[in-house]
Amino acid sequence: MDPAILDRINRGILLRTGAYLANDHFLLPSGRHTGAYVEKNLVSTEPAFTEGLGEVLAKRFAGDAVDVVLTSGVGATLLGHAVARAHPSKPKLLYAVKSRGSEGERDVALPPEFEASLPAGSRTLIIEDILTTGLTIRALIRLVEERGGRIVGVGCLWNRDRQVQFSSPFFALVTKDFPTYLPEECPMCRQGVPLREPHGGPASPVRTKGPGRAPRKRK
Ligand SMILES: [Zn+2]
Repeated sequence: MDPAILDRINRGILLRTGAYLANDHFLLPSGRHTGAYVEKNLVSTEPAFTEGLGEVLAKRFAGDAVDVVLTSGVGATLLGHAVARAHPSKPKLLYAVKSRGSEGERDVALPPEFEASLPAGSRTLIIEDILTTGLTIRALIRLVEERGGRIVGVGCLWNRDRQVQFSSPFFALVTKDFPTYLPEECPMCRQGVPLREPHGGPASPVRTKGPGRAPRKRK
């Protein structure tokens, strides 16, 4: 199917679940502003849609033998379950937990009870929900390779940064960059669109003045 059409269909599914918020004005944790946001926790609230998205991802990798689908995080694991369920190899589903490396860098750890399910030689498909920097996916790849496993591919729901590259086959259901703006350069601010936190409610007026200012103390 034409990638642009696929992209539109998948984005429609995300709109349906209320996860894709567009044409608005959001304050990001970084202090920057954006007009579109994916509320990733809402993506998997409708099981039939989650299964549909999982089937599309499984189909993309259906030609490869897969022993393990590996995820990290609740949303990615719900999606990974749907992918594993739909894949013809009937792979196991394992998840890693997010942790920090010795120098504070983002890392993932495999719960010890899963160790025996990821032996050397395991053909592994990594599934992620939202790709922002690719750091979590890289940590998952490292985890598999350190155990002598092989990465069959990486599938994700939404790729927010098309600059991110992997050496394994990569497929995203939706690829859309979100431009973000410094408050002083933000076109929505210029148009007077009210600024909101993505999780609902107006943004705190202190934080809209930009990053680096201490939040006001509560009395
Ligand atoms: Zn703004």
